[in-house]
Amino acid sequence: MHYILALDQGTTSSRAILFDESGAAVASSQLEFAQIYPEPGQVEHRPEDIWQSQREAAEACLESAQVSARDVAAIGIANQRETTLLWDAHTGEPAHNAIVWQDRRTAPICEELRSAGLAPLVAERTGLVLDPYFSGTKIMWLLRNQPGLRERAERGDVLFGTVDTYLLWRLTGGRVHATDPSNASRTLLYNLRTGDWDSELLDALSIPRAILPEVLPTAGSFGETNAEFLGHSVPVTGMAGDQQAALFGQMCLDPGQAKNTYGTGCFVLLNIGSQLKIPKGGLLATVAWDLGGGPIYAIEGSVFVAGAAIQWLRDELGIIKSASEVEELAARAPNAGGVYFVPAFVGLGAPYWDPYARGLLIGLTRGTGRHHLARAALEGICFQSRDVLQAMAAEAGLDLQVLRADGGASQNNLLLQLQADILGVPVERPANTETTALGAAYLAGHAAGVWPRLEDLRAKRRVDQVFEPEWDEDRRESSYRDWSRAVKLARGWASPQ
Ligand code: ADP
Repeated sequence: MHYILALDQGTTSSRAILFDESGAAVASSQLEFAQIYPEPGQVEHRPEDIWQSQREAAEACLESAQVSARDVAAIGIANQRETTLLWDAHTGEPAHNAIVWQDRRTAPICEELRSAGLAPLVAERTGLVLDPYFSGTKIMWLLRNQPGLRERAERGDVLFGTVDTYLLWRLTGGRVHATDPSNASRTLLYNLRTGDWDSELLDALSIPRAILPEVLPTAGSFGETNAEFLGHSVPVTGMAGDQQAALFGQMCLDPGQAKNTYGTGCFVLLNIGSQLKIPKGGLLATVAWDLGGGPIYAIEGSVFVAGAAIQWLRDELGIIKSASEVEELAARAPNAGGVYFVPAFVGLGAPYWDPYARGLLIGLTRGTGRHHLARAALEGICFQSRDVLQAMAAEAGLDLQVLRADGGASQNNLLLQLQADILGVPVERPANTETTALGAAYLAGHAAGVWPRLEDLRAKRRVDQVFEPEWDEDRRESSYRDWSRAVKLARGWASPQ
């Protein structure tokens, strides 16, 4: 028996899932680690916590499956993206804690780069926008603020990595310093067209090339782990950012296929194939993966508040006791009773990009009840997803055929039914909604020869349920028009007068 071990290094926990040759998960283990908030808007992780939690999760996973590392054909890594680490090339000593993707401390640096007129170049080369989210300005911050670091970096004594790179470096005992294009394309430094670090951007951001990892295909050989990890050396043959891994785990291999992860927010990725297109309207272009035959691209958009609106119903309004209760409550209403809920608690993301928008409940009448609010909240998640998907499809010039759902809130049948109704395309939920780990395992197993043909992987996909659109066109379009009116009213609300 050949097993594949997926390491899913997330923002709040490290997980390991062991898959057998059939693609079934046979064991898993998960360890949370500390979140460090030095100041408001700042989020850090200790590099050692990332490594140790991931290592222990992997050991515990094999232990509980009673499987020896000798029987593990390959390791695949999926990771929280953009989170930035710098460490000493010789000793491994971190130069600082990891600066997490959520960290906003580099907003002034982004402003500085924008004033220097760099936004168009960044968009054109990297597919990204100038936002603290991405790694580049986090590297700049570290080089500016850690005494002596820049000099060491220029001498080649310092290494940069996102979490994939750091884990790989640790797993191989410091022998391999590499990343993959799905992670590289989140750094602000990677040229999507040339498939290499961009010299002009490196100059503009004053980042020495010497610190950057080699970019290797997403599925392929990344080196072998040291035997002291797991007791036996294992090849690492797949690495991808978590959202791209999920897109692969969902088997969205063809242009026009999209997945939506329904969690705190929503992460939507649309496969656009091998032809790069830089979208407008705040949508991002990114590398989905490179299986060795060149990059496949995706357009990405996110909704800030999705499942978090359900938490709000639970924690602030108290109309449900658990998030899952929302389904039963909303099902008591045949429709939202004319109520629209725009959960713009933190402004609106793609395609509106309005930091001043605020949450709005409209259409209330004397007859409005909690079940209507619950339903309007679920619909609000679906309308926002339609906003993003519609903008994406228009940018890509593609018609969406089906939407594949995963994430914690995708367990909610009514939510997915409403999504199909509001979108007008079928929504599919796979049997295994752990699509991130699954994607990492598939990538690694594919490269390791366990599943050499993509057809082998496609054949593994098991659909739990398909939700077909039931609303007629009139209802779909008139409700979407009303939603758009509600969004208009929510916009600009908090703008300084
Ligand atoms: P994340 O990875 O962003 O932390 P998860 O994928 O774990 O999120 O999903 C948790 C989110 O999904 C929470 O915001 C929660 O309110 C929401 N959620 C969980 N179960 C349901 C449900 N049955 N219906 C609607 N929302 C749900």
